[in-house]
Amino acid sequence: MFADRLKIISQKIAAAAARRPFPCEQDVRLIAVSKTHPPESLLEALESGVTLFGENRVQEAKAKIAVLPSRCQWHFIGHLQRNKIRQALPLFELIHGVDSLAIAQDIDRIAAECGLFPKILLEVNVAGEETKFGFSPEFLVAQMKQLLQLRRVQIEGLMTIPPPAPNPEDSRRHFVTLKNLRDTLRTTFKLPLPELSMGMSDDFEVGIEEGATLVRIGTALFGERSGKTWRPSGSDSLDG
Ligand SMILES: *Cc1c(COP(=O)(O)O)cnc(C)c1O
Repeated sequence: MFADRLKIISQKIAAAAARRPFPCEQDVRLIAVSKTHPPESLLEALESGVTLFGENRVQEAKAKIAVLPSRCQWHFIGHLQRNKIRQALPLFELIHGVDSLAIAQDIDRIAAECGLFPKILLEVNVAGEETKFGFSPEFLVAQMKQLLQLRRVQIEGLMTIPPPAPNPEDSRRHFVTLKNLRDTLRTTFKLPLPELSMGMSDDFEVGIEEGATLVRIGTALFGERSGKTWRPSGSDSLDG
């Protein structure tokens, strides 16, 4: 049952937060990563008290948002394609995966056209993986000035997806890197940057111990994913 899994995870979140050696200004928020799962599963989550969902495909999210109660909140956690920005902006309270200056500039321009002030997180490729999206830490520091010139985009903090690893402890140094980078940007550019989105099903406790304010948990809440995107019956093409 979803409620049972949620209870266990909530206890683990609270315990991990209590282990933090430093004071945290912010509570940890749990994002229930609902990608690929049908609206019925999200309704079950909602009945258990979860209201914040993470999706990584704009079309799929849009179809679910249309059929779920308006008290749900939505975060976009994937790689946002340029041609999906206009659709995504009104749907999501926070966009986690802003991974280049170019996409941030596009978001800013489209936000101005739509009259919106979108909140975003900058995605950092902390381990320097070649196959992964995201700013390298050095690049982010170098481009921060240009990012701060954007008038619409509200930079709320940083996000990372560490390399897949057999042991959650392997993620720790990457989370520390992200937090240190956030602290550097804070002092250098005098920004609040309150949010750190780090930690998934396997390593969220480590993420919280190192200062995560947002954890993105899918499998541990909803079970294994089928791998396919969910689509409403009767719809034909559903990409992005
Ligand atoms: C799918 C996904 C998650 C959730 O992963 P689980 O291991 O199922 O908890 C978290 N973050 C991002 C960016 C994802 O795409």
